Amino acid sequence: MQPFTYVHAESVDHAIASGRGPHAQFVAGGTTLVDLMRLEVMRPRAVVDITGLPLTAIEDRGGALWIGALATNTDVAYHPLVTARFPALAEALLSGASPQLRNMATVGGNLLQRTRCPYFRDGMSPCNKRAPGTGCAALDGYTRSHAVLGTSPRCIATHPSDMCVALVALDAVVHTQGPSGRRAIAIAEFHTPPGEHPEIESALVPGELVTHLELPATPRAARSRYTKVRDRASFSFALASAAVALELRGGEIRDARIALGGLATVPWRAREAERFLIGRPAGPDSFRRAAAMALDGAAPRDDNSFKVELGRRTVLRALQRGAS
Ligand SMILES: Cc1cc2nc3c(=O)[nH]c(=O)nc-3n(C[C@H](O)[C@H](O)[C@H](O)COP(=O)(O)OP(=O)(O)OC[C@H]3O[C@@H](n4cnc5c(N)ncnc54)[C@H](O)[C@@H]3O)c2cc1C
Ligand code: SF4
Repeated sequence: MQPFTYVHAESVDHAIASGRGPHAQFVAGGTTLVDLMRLEVMRPRAVVDITGLPLTAIEDRGGALWIGALATNTDVAYHPLVTARFPALAEALLSGASPQLRNMATVGGNLLQRTRCPYFRDGMSPCNKRAPGTGCAALDGYTRSHAVLGTSPRCIATHPSDMCVALVALDAVVHTQGPSGRRAIAIAEFHTPPGEHPEIESALVPGELVTHLELPATPRAARSRYTKVRDRASFSFALASAAVALELRGGEIRDARIALGGLATVPWRAREAERFLIGRPAGPDSFRRAAAMALDGAAPRDDNSFKVELGRRTVLRALQRGAS
């Protein structure tokens, strides 16, 4: 591991001031950052420890749920307000990693976890995300785990988070504080697709700290569900996942959210499929058609072509669960 300066942040302002440099990284649970530092894939010159900041509360503010960025994945997943009002979030968190990791991992760190693309993590292969301009080894490599949606000629890595997929279906807002003040960023705008610059992964600027997540109270949220398909039942990232949130009245769909994971370069919102469902009966025909639409535009490669049908079936299953 390359030498680095360690800073223990005494306050949010101290964290922001210490994290402003382009080579600084905040550390929370450390389950992504320390891993990648050991592999020498990430080589920060300064590590700003934010674990002492007062950002762990989970509280109702006028109906919306506010979750501090340092709340652990375990605390969020088992919180009674989350399980009762935002079940997709609890399901997504509990489908990720292992109990030990969830005890360490925080909401802010989960939002900013890095891809599991093996060529990114090996520290040697050409990788535009790790070393901009070097190329993308995955394009001529083994792509079973890679994305079929939102790809670019520079990067086809999947976004790995389960939590973020649920957050998209729940219309979450990411609250930040940084060198230019406070911002509220819609979750669907938070992660940036690779485009020409796969090394840029989020809307954050250096030194900008995620302080809270806000989950608005909507009629859809209480019916939300998360469905994950993976190679084994635990400790495995999604091959395909779907979060859905449905508002139903008398068997008709009044509003819908559909988000996909394991299939795209960012937590993916299937807007056309959502629009299609509005005003239609909550039944198999509508759900099948919407599931097909959710994968429209998919660009599979030889090793991951199975993901298109798998993705459709995963969305269908999530919609069936959301309506039951
Ligand atoms: C073996 C293994 C299996 C896993 N399986 C899954 C899985 O199935 N599903 C899944 O979704 N995830 C999985 N994960 C990933 C795990 O969820 C993340 O590592 C974890 O959520 C990161 O949180 P952290 O607090 O440890 O982040 P850290 O490692 O502390 O930080 C990660 C990044 O976020 C930044 N950061 C942290 N907090 C903030 C903040 N408040 N503001 C701004 N930047 C911040 C850091 O600078 C760093 O770049 C797995 C991880 C491992 C090691
Ligand atoms: S897919 Fe992205 S992360 Fe993987 S090697 Fe290519 S550029 Fe790097």
